[in-house]
Amino acid sequence: MESARITMFDTTLRDGEQSPGCSMNVQEKLRLAHQLDRLGVDVIEAGFPIASEGDFAAVQAIAATIRRPTIAALARACRPDIERAWQALKGAEKPRIHVFLATSDIHLRYKLKISREECLQQAEDAVRFAKSLCADVEFSPEDATRTEPEFLCQVLEAVVEAGASTLNIPDTVGYTIPTEFAALISMIRQRIKNEKVMISTHCHNDLGLAVANSLAAVEAGARQIECTINGIGERAGNASLEEIAAALRVRADRYPYHTGIVTEQLFPASQMLSDITKVPVQPNKAITGRNAFAHEAGIHQDGMLKNPLTYEIMTPQSVGVPDSKLVLGKHSGRHALGLRCEQLGHQFDRRELDEIYRKFVVLADKIKHVQDHHLLELIEHTHGSSRRIPPAHVDARATAAAAVGARSTNFPELPSTPLPLSSEHQPDQEDYLWGV
Ligand SMILES: [Zn+2]
Repeated sequence: MESARITMFDTTLRDGEQSPGCSMNVQEKLRLAHQLDRLGVDVIEAGFPIASEGDFAAVQAIAATIRRPTIAALARACRPDIERAWQALKGAEKPRIHVFLATSDIHLRYKLKISREECLQQAEDAVRFAKSLCADVEFSPEDATRTEPEFLCQVLEAVVEAGASTLNIPDTVGYTIPTEFAALISMIRQRIKNEKVMISTHCHNDLGLAVANSLAAVEAGARQIECTINGIGERAGNASLEEIAAALRVRADRYPYHTGIVTEQLFPASQMLSDITKVPVQPNKAITGRNAFAHEAGIHQDGMLKNPLTYEIMTPQSVGVPDSKLVLGKHSGRHALGLRCEQLGHQFDRRELDEIYRKFVVLADKIKHVQDHHLLELIEHTHGSSRRIPPAHVDARATAAAAVGARSTNFPELPSTPLPLSSEHQPDQEDYLWGV
């Protein structure tokens, strides 16, 4: 079977950032955007420019800096939103305006207070206006899975006519199930005659089905998946990027699709997001959780020692989880140290790494084997990262022990400067609950 290319659309910086406790400032968004670039995502949805000055500045900065992926910005189906999105995006190498408008009767009646006819007209006008500014326009009928199918198709046909090249089908409230969603995508695929129009999915995880629904949609003809790192997003979150990427890779025998994702960058991306938001990854989270590759039962350990394939469907290294057997000591070079820092979600330039390295050598002289939690403390002391949570695979007990013991004994020479407080957080971003 021929392998079809799936476009990976990351919305960690937009939908993900809308989740409680996950707001990020401009510098943090830029740092994560660089990691998304290394991860190989095709589209980065950088924000919702009309939502706040901070969101606008973040989209503008990412559009100016990150050149390989398409940079998308969200806009409601009205001129001020679309103009603002374009203002933020226009410096991008590959800009995309993402317009959305709710189409379900419940949203039309109670939220927007418009008729179906008005909705159809507004969607068409908005896409036509966006297209006059930007060649790449995506349209999302919000709450698509609860929209009457015939009306949904009328809206989709109208926006394609107006210039939309991607039709994103959001399961905004996380209500659909895989067979039902696949049938909806098939029906849309048959109705939209234009082969060049890409069908996309955007699934929420309220029933824990976001990844399953996304994969079912791909089997039914969708070729773009919207998802987030660690599955963060509104309420129960979005489809998890790492789970989708790993499923497509591990089960390539059943999924004849490929992505541009560099799976070895999945764990560093997860760690970086966790470090920025201070929201830990649940220990049993697939792919990136602390226990994802831990084997405790005796019979499992015995099997693993004889042959890892007995209980392991993928290696930790294939998704970027550091090889804990590779011990860092005083004979480790800058390269090994830099690599381990990257795996833990920290990118440093040469000067910064030199500084870490000098302190690492002093520490390694004292304690022989430098564990990941030692290294994270050293990074925190040196560069003021306000990390407060153990990374997913670092044993919590070791970190707790390090916090009470090692902190005072292993770092006597490091100054205990207060952590810088972010001044760029926009409180209005956290309250801004619009989105697909
Ligand atoms: Zn969403």
